[in-house]
Amino acid sequence: MTARTISILGATGSIGASTLDLIRREKNKWRVVALTANGNAAELATLAREFGAEVAVVADEARLPQLREALAGTNIHAAAGTSALTEAASRPADITVAAIVGCAGLAPTMAAIENGGTIGLANKESLVSAGEVLTKAVARHGATLLPVDSEHNAIFQCLAGNDLEHVRWITLTASGGPFRDWSHDQLIQATPAQAVKHPNWDMGAKISVDSATMFNKGLELIEAFHLFPVGLERLRIIVHPQSIVHSMVEYRDGSTLAQLGPSDMRVPIASTLAWPQRMDTPCEPLDLAQIGTLTFRAPDEERFPATRLARQAAEAGGGIPAVLNAANEIAVAAFLAGQLGFTRIAAHVEDVLSGFAPPAPATLEDVIALDAEARHRALALMEPV
Ligand code: NAD
Ligand code: MG
Repeated sequence: MTARTISILGATGSIGASTLDLIRREKNKWRVVALTANGNAAELATLAREFGAEVAVVADEARLPQLREALAGTNIHAAAGTSALTEAASRPADITVAAIVGCAGLAPTMAAIENGGTIGLANKESLVSAGEVLTKAVARHGATLLPVDSEHNAIFQCLAGNDLEHVRWITLTASGGPFRDWSHDQLIQATPAQAVKHPNWDMGAKISVDSATMFNKGLELIEAFHLFPVGLERLRIIVHPQSIVHSMVEYRDGSTLAQLGPSDMRVPIASTLAWPQRMDTPCEPLDLAQIGTLTFRAPDEERFPATRLARQAAEAGGGIPAVLNAANEIAVAAFLAGQLGFTRIAAHVEDVLSGFAPPAPATLEDVIALDAEARHRALALMEPV
């Protein structure tokens, strides 16, 4: 059996680590082409050596000497900068896992799509900012987009063999995040340390804050809108604190299909890596008798306005979802730096969106320019605490 080739963009992150953990368990079946990171050259070099990658790329050019030194004596090619990142992403691979966080992942994801390959998409921000541009490119280049995000991976599995026209609802489940039972007054006081401690999932800092504000579910609503074109009115959100049901599809005959599993990203990643086959994971089997109770409740958009803002952005379309995403990225970074209160994140995104009517982006360059403009606006509107 010839080994399958894989590239991992964002290899040093949480999704990158989960992907590499699965590959490590069946190393003879995989050959690693490209591994990338933002600035952590030492960790990237260690991974590149372990997996015998062809190329290792750091986005931060200042880290290139360190990366080169750490890879000395190997024949792994070391490179740096955004164009090197895009070049690495465009190397042919049987599957490219897009696991960079934020809109920074957009250009590399697009490069992998333009290759016509299979992309395991974790980088939801790229689909939120550039939904139409990306999905059109997928069709034009004959690429295959497989969702890694647990909800979308669940929906993808529940849709298999069915026609979208028979779908009544697609329901995204949300854990509700660490503050789901907090009052508005408590939310005002929420700290970064509290926000990044998710009750069910172990994730990067940005998505952890997004889970706490419910922007994660808002971004996922827009992600689902592009991945599963049933219309926004057929997409719903329900809070499910146990994170066992990862999402559901209800059909016109009243049948609801759901995908269940442990709260471990290795399950949806494995489903993507092996698709349309299956592979083993080391995850604990689901013990429903031990879990006992699965509960569901409607989201509270008073305390957590993010899903309302995201739905409005999806309805508005054009460049608005890119503005929502960019404003949220800036607000989350400011919150993590202690410069913005927790409840100001959604308020700030709303401020940035208000009165801003950019033209719809038609190309990747348009989206990147709009993202930069929206970030600039988000920074300019930031009040010092
Ligand atoms: P993370 O912060 O743990 O890792 C992010 C990776 O991207 C790292 O390798 C980092 O070096 C790289 N990176 C960061 N900024 C970069 C930049 N400017 N240029 C190039 N590379 C950069 O994040 P994560 O939790 O692994 O999330 C990655 C993506 O997957 C996000 O879009 C997130 O929403 C999505 N996702 C994550 C999870 C999860 O459980 N962690 C679940 C679903 C979806
Ligand atoms: Mg998710």
